[in-house]
Amino acid sequence: NAVVHWFKMDLRTRDNRALYMASEKAREAGVPLIGLYIVSPQDFEAHLTAPVRVDFMLRTLEILRRDLAQLDIPLWVETVDNRSRVANRVMDLMAEWGASHLFTNIEYEVDELRREAKLVRLFAQKGLVIEVAHDTCIVPPGLLKSGSGGQYAVYSPWFRSWVRYLHDHLELLELLDPPGRNPESARTTFAKLFDCDIPPAPENKKLGEEEAERLEALWPAGEHEAMRRLTRFCEEDIGTYKENRNMPFISGTSNLSVHFASGTLSARTAVRAARDSNNTKKLDGGNPGIQTWISEVAWRDFYKHVLVHWPYVCMNKPFKPEYSNIEWSYNREHFDAWKEGCTGFPIVDAAMRQLRSIGWMHNRCRMIVASFLSKDLLLDWRMGERYFMEHLIDGDFASNNGGWGFAASVGVDPQPYFRIFNPLLQSEKFDPDGEYIRKWVPELKGIKGKAIHDPYDRGASGQAEKAGYPKHIVEHKGARERALAAYKSGVERD
Ligand code: FAD
Repeated sequence: NAVVHWFKMDLRTRDNRALYMASEKAREAGVPLIGLYIVSPQDFEAHLTAPVRVDFMLRTLEILRRDLAQLDIPLWVETVDNRSRVANRVMDLMAEWGASHLFTNIEYEVDELRREAKLVRLFAQKGLVIEVAHDTCIVPPGLLKSGSGGQYAVYSPWFRSWVRYLHDHLELLELLDPPGRNPESARTTFAKLFDCDIPPAPENKKLGEEEAERLEALWPAGEHEAMRRLTRFCEEDIGTYKENRNMPFISGTSNLSVHFASGTLSARTAVRAARDSNNTKKLDGGNPGIQTWISEVAWRDFYKHVLVHWPYVCMNKPFKPEYSNIEWSYNREHFDAWKEGCTGFPIVDAAMRQLRSIGWMHNRCRMIVASFLSKDLLLDWRMGERYFMEHLIDGDFASNNGGWGFAASVGVDPQPYFRIFNPLLQSEKFDPDGEYIRKWVPELKGIKGKAIHDPYDRGASGQAEKAGYPKHIVEHKGARERALAAYKSGVERD
């Protein structure tokens, strides 16, 4: 007999709700705990998981396997090629291991909910027990109700209600212990499971050798690294987060998104640590940097709540149906120039090259390039959303979809459509000395002063041309007018 915990996007032992429940159950029943992880290449494919993200997860699994083995807990990692067979394979393994209980943390995206529903049916047929826990959000979806009793569609009142709820339910921020040690007999009974290898990435998600080495050094995997980063951020940078968070040339943000997205860090742990480094126990008081950071982590909960309540956002539909009628452009040359960082707008190009190089982009720049794609280029925002998922190490459906919906003005609580970022003004404001641009667009390195923001129009055209830097692919003023007209006529046609 045994209890199984099925790991998904919760690749950690600390503060993991379903794992904690599984460990308690195993201890009460006096049976071993087994960890399970299913590699599903078709899910990687369907969800556009970036190779850099797959690589991070596989490296994390290696660390998790070692950590669990020290507690005599095996982690069985298996590839299931056909994703419609995942639930059945879990059932087969339960039978093989003589296990009666499965614990897992819920994933709210539509495909995952369907898989879980199937599993619940199969478990009921066989008389086995499955327990599914809410873990990824700090406040589970469905608990916060607006004045009219429904889900909030606006962030600010939602956030006030989120803070109130947590102040009234402090237990939601309590630390959950890692699992206890398995009985020694687990080593012999399940000897085969301790021998399992972490599979390599599927062929179409493999990184090149140089890239793999570079990214491993840049993004060390696993929960210990997540805790190190969190501790350092709370000690050194969180206090100045409010002033620095919008400046892409400063490393002023936590860089923890990859850990939240892979579950190597629990959002509870992060918010608890931030709160504890404050001079008040309130989530919305004290140091402004800490308060702001907590409210940013809360956006992650917000977008997941939105996804649970309006699952059609998972189906390529804009949150606001009236924005379904906008006539997007599908200009391939523009899209390629945007992807490659060759639009002639240095801040946009710097950001896109940062993404391609390190699988991550600063939040301010995510907003700039998303606005540029959907408004200046009037390209379908879903092309950008998709490209981000294919390249981000922290790709997370709800946050990415929410971010794109915000910037393209088609999402929940969005930027109004008539607010169109001017990429040159954004550049001057958030990268005033052009440090970020010079780092990521090295051919512009030699351009001095303010010309860096727009070399062709600010007296550095000779240098830019010589360096092979492209001219603007669109003219912002005209593009702005075109976007306003397209959005307006799309909405009016509704
Ligand atoms: P910090 O500034 O240190 O913030 C701490 C944490 O708060 C982040 O790690 C993240 O979990 C959360 N957070 C912060 N801002 C947001 C936000 N706007 N929405 C949701 N959560 C937030 N974030 C992702 O994790 N995955 C994505 O796929 C993703 N796609 C995005 C796409 C667009 C177009 C935009 C505008 C934003 C997107 N974001 C996404 C949100 C945000 O850009 C990143 O979370 C942030 O840049 C990560 O860096 P950090 O960990 O240093 O953030």
